[in-house]
Amino acid sequence: QKPKAAVIVEKIAEEGKKEKKEEKKLVKEVSPKTIEAKKEAGEEAEGGKKKRPWRNKLRKEKAKEAARKEREEEMEVIGGGGEDEGEKKKKKKKKKKRNAVLDEIIKDGKAARERMEEGEEVSAAVASTTGDAKLEDAKEKIKGGIFRFINEQLYTVKSAEAVELFKKDPDSFWAYHEGFAQQTKKWPNHPLRLIIQWLLSKDSGKVVFDLGCGEAKIAEAVGKRHDVRSFDLVAVNERITACDMAHLPEKDGVADIVIFCLSLMGTNLLDFIKEARRVLKTGGILKIAEVTSRFVNPKMFMDAVCKLGFQVHEKKAVTDYFIIMQFAKIDKVENKRPYGLVLKPCLYKKR
Ligand code: SAH
Repeated sequence: QKPKAAVIVEKIAEEGKKEKKEEKKLVKEVSPKTIEAKKEAGEEAEGGKKKRPWRNKLRKEKAKEAARKEREEEMEVIGGGGEDEGEKKKKKKKKKKRNAVLDEIIKDGKAARERMEEGEEVSAAVASTTGDAKLEDAKEKIKGGIFRFINEQLYTVKSAEAVELFKKDPDSFWAYHEGFAQQTKKWPNHPLRLIIQWLLSKDSGKVVFDLGCGEAKIAEAVGKRHDVRSFDLVAVNERITACDMAHLPEKDGVADIVIFCLSLMGTNLLDFIKEARRVLKTGGILKIAEVTSRFVNPKMFMDAVCKLGFQVHEKKAVTDYFIIMQFAKIDKVENKRPYGLVLKPCLYKKR
């Protein structure tokens, strides 16, 4: 008799095969060759009487499409047809789509987690019977997949949606954190180390905000020297205040230093920088450490930050992978929505 774990693994593999088969079938069905062949077969059947089932299918689809268009046009008329209404409709549609995507994300995230748990069960069972190293490997791969999946979500939605995501599925945050820690182990030079060294070189007693703090390593390292306040979407330890860093539960102008170390993840970057400026004192320092490949153009990005009411202090490349930028808050805001404040998502490769 096969061990339970092996049966589960076989089942997973079989499902994968089935999916692939179906995909192939679909591709074949729409290929011009198949359509041509079907046409010929239809024409030859029943002594010249033309039988073309593929045509009926097409007709049906066309009719459906036409009906949909008609409905849409009707709605436009009811809505007044004005540009504003059109815009509103578009926005509503976009929102609906976004919500659907979010639901999909959450559903998939859950499915992924379930798969991970299954993988864990499988590998534990097998380790106890056969000690198969391949399954350990498979488990790691599944975990890596979950991390990459959540990571991508965080970089491609607004932070408010990330908050929702973790509210609906808090476990996915742990999966993300574990994955991130796994990644950083491979880095020869984590920018966090340089930031901590820099903070240690400063006079004591500074109010330091660590935004998107992860495990709040800065507070752990320099919490005795400075007043470090650590914020993240979910609090994984008691040093952390859980919140969206676009809305900090802090008063204006209280911070000497604000740090974003690899944490500018949501697409609402502008909100994060504005919030950092709000809590900073005039002359206070904003430090941003990011993955170099995220910048379309570092100079353009820095110019945009400056327009929001900052002055550049310095820019330093940390190896080829990271850039650390330093700004000081000034009173004058040149542009409230500057061009160029964009970062590309940081997607990790499969191991
Ligand atoms: N700064 C830490 C962690 C980096 S990982 C370090 O260098 O080790 C990025 C972190 O940013 C994650 O923990 C993520 O949850 C957090 N983050 C992303 N968007 C956020 C938001 N809108 N508000 C608070 N934290 C956020």
